[in-house]
Amino acid sequence: MSTTIVYRPADGTELARVEDTPIERLDEIFATAREAQAKWAKTPTAVRAGLMLDASRALAAARDELGQVDSDNSGKSTRDALREAERCSAALVYYGGWADKAYGATVPIASEVFTYTVREPYGVVVGITPWNVGLRLSAKKAAQAIAFGNACILKPAPETPLPTLKLVEIMESAGIPAGLVQVVTGGGAQGAALVEHPGTDLISFTGSTVVGKQIAATAGHNLRPVVLELGGKSPQVVFADADLEAAADSVLNGVFRFAGQMCVAGSRVFVEDSIYDRFNDMLAERTAAVVVGDPADPAVHVGPQVSAVQRDKTLAAIAQAQADGARIVAQAALPTDPRLAGGYYTPPTIFADAGPDSSLVTNEVFGPVFSVARFADEAEAVSLANGTRYGLAAGIWTSDGARAHRMVRDVKAGVVWVNSYLLLSDQLSFGGDGDSGLNREGGDEAFHTYTKAKAVSYALTKWPITLSS
Ligand code: NAD
Repeated sequence: MSTTIVYRPADGTELARVEDTPIERLDEIFATAREAQAKWAKTPTAVRAGLMLDASRALAAARDELGQVDSDNSGKSTRDALREAERCSAALVYYGGWADKAYGATVPIASEVFTYTVREPYGVVVGITPWNVGLRLSAKKAAQAIAFGNACILKPAPETPLPTLKLVEIMESAGIPAGLVQVVTGGGAQGAALVEHPGTDLISFTGSTVVGKQIAATAGHNLRPVVLELGGKSPQVVFADADLEAAADSVLNGVFRFAGQMCVAGSRVFVEDSIYDRFNDMLAERTAAVVVGDPADPAVHVGPQVSAVQRDKTLAAIAQAQADGARIVAQAALPTDPRLAGGYYTPPTIFADAGPDSSLVTNEVFGPVFSVARFADEAEAVSLANGTRYGLAAGIWTSDGARAHRMVRDVKAGVVWVNSYLLLSDQLSFGGDGDSGLNREGGDEAFHTYTKAKAVSYALTKWPITLSS
């Protein structure tokens, strides 16, 4: 049996050892899920909603413990990890509220027949999550699945299994039936085996574009529905008429938060010509004041990256950008505390003069690094914003309402923030276009993604359609 060592990103020390789920156990795990799902689907919907509310209360009560586990394992600041824990509870409230409201429609076709649609659960949903926001995404995927009568098998990233294991333990202790939400631990081998398993009825994957495409290929071959939330290289566009102080604060938060390990990181910043130098100075001044260090320290803005591997990837991206001729506009200092010497820290860095086709501008770094470039007018801003194969999120900063709406219309993204960035809610749809994903989750999109329609025709008179009619 293989074991994964889980590290504490803040100082690189060992946090736990977690046994990987043997692939041979998957048949049994799917059988358990199928059995639990059959009972759950027959449970009155209001009872299901009530149990999900109970689970949300238990998660709220366990917020500090859950947040601490997440902060220790993911390296998020305690403040951010506590918010993530609160959002788990909120997800159970929101999707629990859908449990008894997920119905089809009557469809009037002819007076001789009663026609309607029923929304049915798929059955067993496989939810695979990445390490950056693994806790919240596990809660979201599980809540979306079970709200609509499915079972869920979660597969957290091998770097961060602990928050998901704790989440499911709390949900079960609050009354979510055993076996309805299970956790498979391990890495790509376990993930791929889950995707390929014939017991899989729907795949909900959040992670990299490379793995997403592999999953889509398997899902296509096996004719399984799939929702993919993948990478991004999102633009933040700042026009000269924007509130520049607010924009500068938000732009930094939109890419340095979680040490840049956000799929929606706004890592391509485009600034209108007339304010370009001034805005760069504002960003540089703020970056110089960014404190990198121990995520448990409330004075710290940016914590470590999740792993030594991710830190090294970010450092390599910084070196590559320099080799490609980009210029460092500002860079925050690394922590000097010897206790953190083994931690996975990278310096928040802003680049200018990066070529539009350079690796820095076209590839996701997943670290606290971004490029700034100038634009002359709205048309150029749109063209630059849409200049990658991704289409996840976009930020627009302007005080001109009509222009804001034109930009919203023209940018290629599943999520757009105007004069803001990073508002995420279970009440809103989430997903991306192009290499950023396929289909949507969240809000009422969850209802469509996690249920399937059955069309029913019930004859009210002797049925007239025969071979001879
Ligand atoms: P990853 O794709 O390497 O891994 C994600 C998950 O997939 C992990 O649980 C991993 O074990 C599993 N996995 C790996 N290979 C697999 C395979 N062949 N089949 C099935 N599962 C497999 O991604 P990561 O490095 O953990 O996370 C970072 C990536 O996630 C970034 O690209 C980021 O943009 C993306 N992300 C996207 C969103 C979004 O909602 N769009 C949110 C968070 C992160």
